[in-house]
Amino acid sequence: MFKKILIANRGEIALRIQRACRELGVRAVMVYSEADRDAKYVRLAEEAVCIGPAASNLSYLNMPAIISAAEVTDAEAIHPGYGFLSENADFAERVEKSGFQFIGPTPESIRIMGDKVSAKQAMIRAGVPCVPGSEGELPDDPALVRKIAKSVGYPVIIKAAGGGGGRGMRVVHTEAALINAVAMTKAEAGAAFGNPAVYMEKFLQNPRHIEIQILADTFKNAVYLGERDCSMQRRHQKILEEAPAPGINRKLIERIGERCVSACKKMGYRGAGTFEFLYEAGEFYFIEMNTRVQVEHPVTEMITGVDIVKTQIMVAAGEKLPFTQRQITISGHAIECRINAEDPFKFTPSPGRITTWHAPGGPGVRVDSHIYSNYFVPPYYDSMIGKLIVHGDTREQALARMRTALLETAVEGISTNIPLHRELMVDSKFMAGGTNIHYLEHWLEQHKR
Ligand code: ADP
Repeated sequence: MFKKILIANRGEIALRIQRACRELGVRAVMVYSEADRDAKYVRLAEEAVCIGPAASNLSYLNMPAIISAAEVTDAEAIHPGYGFLSENADFAERVEKSGFQFIGPTPESIRIMGDKVSAKQAMIRAGVPCVPGSEGELPDDPALVRKIAKSVGYPVIIKAAGGGGGRGMRVVHTEAALINAVAMTKAEAGAAFGNPAVYMEKFLQNPRHIEIQILADTFKNAVYLGERDCSMQRRHQKILEEAPAPGINRKLIERIGERCVSACKKMGYRGAGTFEFLYEAGEFYFIEMNTRVQVEHPVTEMITGVDIVKTQIMVAAGEKLPFTQRQITISGHAIECRINAEDPFKFTPSPGRITTWHAPGGPGVRVDSHIYSNYFVPPYYDSMIGKLIVHGDTREQALARMRTALLETAVEGISTNIPLHRELMVDSKFMAGGTNIHYLEHWLEQHKR
């Protein structure tokens, strides 16, 4: 096992990884920007290094500063968390070239999966079902583009090969709108992701977002840890997640899980990863793979008892996966609510000082958050300030526990989306389970205030 690793992230995930290190007896070096100097996980760190000013591009995205921090502290490995540099193949490469272990897959795996066109092609080769669409990047010839759209069938969605975070997508309903939409998406993709390539998929009307968590070691062992349902989204961004996915046949999940595992083995994938699918009418369609730990990993930890972050570190240190597929069992139900510093219904960011923070508790309740009373939420980063996760024997019990936990939680001084979560937890359709990816947007439209 490593003696010391550096955590190249901030906020709740930096704290989550720090906790995993403590359990493993590994020293954790925290890095921080000037805006995060007072974070508790920085204050309580065995070692901490300031890597630059508040702006992310000067600190959490500053590769030389992070690598120098690892050098001066004698860390052996770097955990990138999620967001920031976690899916940057060049960073992974520089980390390894500088003599550190990157806690994640190889730069090559990241590169293939980071380009959605090459990711889809790899999946097709590995026998993972994909959304029907263009067999790769769209050509420049408008006549050819029209022909592809016709054979895919309208509506179609134009997506950036280098897209992420729900950006770089455009739905097209008619041929008249097609060419202009392709040109606009290309221009946006070029500006936002530095890669103007786009591809086309059939736009599925009422799918659910279901994803499979996998873990793989460097000895060709890989397992899947069941699925998560992340269909509750606003602007393609998840706001709450649960596991297992309500109402999906276990045999179907097993079949798709096995496909993901065999794809991992074929690719020589190592570490944690997530295969994201759209699920409609009993069929799974791959959309993309995330080559890192995800925000919603705790719901899987709660139903499997597997510590995903610890396992990431263990396999990066060259250890074998400590379990086989047969030893993975799913028990009960877990739900996660993302707590964002924002207006609960208008979604405007609400950074500032938290005057009161009271965390919930009780059986089956987990809080992953770095905040505390008198913590100042900096305006420079993502608005998520923590996650509330509950586990119950049944979905009903998990829902009841989440309602109680949300009732107990108090955050004062700033606005949060807790009032929105409280309403969703008593919404009859959500309570019934199995709502699709458009449900929350429609709900918000109907509950406008
Ligand atoms: P990103 O990397 O930006 O998150 P994804 O490819 O994972 O992009 O898509 C994000 C979300 O966009 C999905 O969860 C779904 O809500 C919607 N989406 C993507 N592709 C399709 C499609 N072919 N049909 C319908 N909705 C889609």
